[in-house]
Amino acid sequence: MKMEEERKEKLLSELKEKMEKDESLPLKKGATNLVFGVGSPEAEILFIGEGPGYWEDLKKEPFVGNAGKLLDQLLHSIELDRSGVYITNVVHHRPPENRDPLLEEIETYGKYLDKIIEIISPKVIITLGRYSMAKFLPNVKISQVHGKVYNINWRGYELMVIPMYHPAASLRNPEVLRQEKSDFLRLPDIISKLEKEEVKKKNEGEQMNLI
Ligand code: URA
Repeated sequence: MKMEEERKEKLLSELKEKMEKDESLPLKKGATNLVFGVGSPEAEILFIGEGPGYWEDLKKEPFVGNAGKLLDQLLHSIELDRSGVYITNVVHHRPPENRDPLLEEIETYGKYLDKIIEIISPKVIITLGRYSMAKFLPNVKISQVHGKVYNINWRGYELMVIPMYHPAASLRNPEVLRQEKSDFLRLPDIISKLEKEEVKKKNEGEQMNLI
């Protein structure tokens, strides 16, 4: 394992331990397990969903139910799998009866989500559904912005945020599914453009140093 990967892995596991001991987390009492996140600590793409459901609560892993199977298929459609990205949620304990997370719950878990984002420091954040979208892009409608690229400055970090539909919404509506599949298929191009721009910036920086 490379040093940077080890460092991030350690920070994530310390954060997870801290969360497991945090009795102030509002959904902890009703849940079986903490569902922290899964994937590569060095991922360039971070997916943020809503919150764990029945299966996630049991298996301690995000997106392992039906919505998760669809997410895996969408990842495979662009030759990725969950080991090449990182996946987490806006709340990390299952809300009772799978209800939507409340604003104050999102805020409380948000302190930990912010740390996860800082540790991974991804190039691209894909929000799945309106709750994670609202963290970065308040006051927009998912039907109008899904698949669009937003370059934002979030707490001093330059981030690319791409809002996408929640896979559970795609399972309920074939037209949403069609749009989500097409949003995913555009991702490889977006990422390769981003990488080319980074190489260009790096080269320009090196040339400036030579002058
Ligand atoms: N839906 C989510 O938003 N997150 C999960 O982990 C599972 C289903």
